[in-house]
Amino acid sequence: MADITVIGSNMIDLTAYVDRMPIEGETIEAPEFSMGFGGKGANQAMAAARLGSDVNFITMVGNDDFGKQQLANYEASGIRTDGIGIGHQASGVAPIFVDPTSDNRILIIKGANKELTPAVLDEKVELIKNSKLIVLQQEIALETNYHAIDLGVKYGVPVLLNPAPANEDLNIDYVSKAAFFTPNETELATLTGMPTNDLDEIKLAAENLISRGVGNLIITLGSKGALWVTAGHSEIVPGMKVKAVDTTGAGDSFIGSFSHYFAEGEDVPTALRHANQYAAMTVTKKGTQKSYPTKTELADMLV
Ligand code: ADP
Repeated sequence: MADITVIGSNMIDLTAYVDRMPIEGETIEAPEFSMGFGGKGANQAMAAARLGSDVNFITMVGNDDFGKQQLANYEASGIRTDGIGIGHQASGVAPIFVDPTSDNRILIIKGANKELTPAVLDEKVELIKNSKLIVLQQEIALETNYHAIDLGVKYGVPVLLNPAPANEDLNIDYVSKAAFFTPNETELATLTGMPTNDLDEIKLAAENLISRGVGNLIITLGSKGALWVTAGHSEIVPGMKVKAVDTTGAGDSFIGSFSHYFAEGEDVPTALRHANQYAAMTVTKKGTQKSYPTKTELADMLV
């Protein structure tokens, strides 16, 4: 029995560090390039696995070299690969431009991730129903997430839905069937159509979702930590003060680590406090998955 089943995307991040963004029709030289493993599903699976969770990852890689590299990366990190399918399309890739001020422009080519359909989940149902938590994001089709939520309800497995990237079409009726819903401030604004510029506005927008049936709402607040809201209760779990170097993938590390601590049996505020610590450590290092510490590395970083 796996602790956590992550159902979601995998991508190869192709990052060009540019002196400035090219303009239309222009070719410029970028001084630095880096290739890394990414995709929100893969990142969250990796954070939980690095902390020691037994993670089952359901995703679709392409029938190409990138797909083979993805599989090798999961195997090296102890993530179960029996839920991973090989699609007909190329592996998902994300070309990223980052300028010296850390502004970025990102393209996502989903490729084989588009082949992760509800029918694929039915083939993997034995893996899904025997876990303690199902974790979802939004780089795959909404219908696939809806089906995953239905499977969670059917088999009594709690579901965490991280609505990133934001999608206005998300059906909140489905969301209310998930145990946890975890937008950041921007995603909360998109979903509610309400402003989220300060804590009072965030709390009002949160109440809007709670009144529509969302159970546990966890809003990530960057360096300020996270806000946990349920019907009749609201609590800020403060973030850790660190010197941030690169916040790419912080949200995914937060979700993956929260999932790990929750599946281990911690109550929500304790799991949130530990997730804030874990995510804070990842922003002190460059890279996405590269910045995710193992349990031992985390203990060394926190002394
Ligand atoms: P996203 O990456 O999805 O926008 P956030 O920026 O809200 O998500 O960050 C997710 C979590 O990462 C936060 O809740 C916090 O725990 C941690 N975090 C992000 N930025 C910082 C920072 N500068 N210092 C400390 N912790 C941070």
